[in-house]
Amino acid sequence: QTAIELNGLRKTYGGSGKSAPKEALKGIDLAIPAGSIFGLLGPNGAGKSTTINIMAGLVTKTSGQVRIWGFDQDVNPRQSRASIGVVPQELNMDPFFTPRAALEVQAGLYGVPRSERRTDEILARVGLLDKAEAYARTLSGGMRRRLLIAKALVHRPPVLVLDEPTAGVDIALRQMLWTYVRELNAAGTTIILTTHYLEEAQQMCDRIAIIDAGQVVACDATVNLLARL
Ligand code: ADP
Ligand code: ADP
Repeated sequence: QTAIELNGLRKTYGGSGKSAPKEALKGIDLAIPAGSIFGLLGPNGAGKSTTINIMAGLVTKTSGQVRIWGFDQDVNPRQSRASIGVVPQELNMDPFFTPRAALEVQAGLYGVPRSERRTDEILARVGLLDKAEAYARTLSGGMRRRLLIAKALVHRPPVLVLDEPTAGVDIALRQMLWTYVRELNAAGTTIILTTHYLEEAQQMCDRIAIIDAGQVVACDATVNLLARL
């Protein structure tokens, strides 16, 4: 089964008014197999965030086709949105929200019935149960990152996308995130992560696509790809 399929995906930013158009994606074709840990690797500005923000439904595409867990984003927008959880790169959050409130609101947004919410279980999973009632403004960067992962999981999506999950993160937290991501994957979640560190993609991912200037320049099993570099 294919978790995510992108066909001829294009995105041009701006172009109206004074800003010159910026062609961020120039026709991306990708098939991400279910069950994998898949890395989108590329330099800053390559188009990684744009690609995942389109998958997440946060940025509108200019043209092309996006299928998530078999659901075409244009034909089945609700099912396709329900099949993916996204952990953003930015750690911004409402300073007076608590982790418990953040998860409850997220569950409400995704229509998860109260009887099926697992707020304490998810908080415990990311090591934040003892901070359930703390204001977000008191949480460290590492705690915020873990809260954002918890939020992305409340509706039990089969696909979890992490945008630069370890950017600016120290070694201890990085190891913890990697372990956690591997556990989620072993439990059946397909993982997609973006990174500009080859080392991270190499250690974490079983398949890697290299994106440069809005195009896929290589895509293969990690062992094959590294053999060619
Ligand atoms: P990456 O995640 O690989 O660093 P991005 O997807 O963020 O790349 O950016 C791809 C290109 O699109 C870059 O040239 C970036 O400057 C441009 N871009 C990204 N977001 C916007 C935006 N909101 N408006 C205009 N240009 C943008
Ligand atoms: P913990 O939640 O594990 O106690 P810390 O507060 O020690 O986490 O932060 C863990 C690491 O997270 C820090 O060493 C730092 O590298 C990283 N970090 C802190 N703030 C940010 C941030 N704004 N963006 C990304 N990473 C951050």
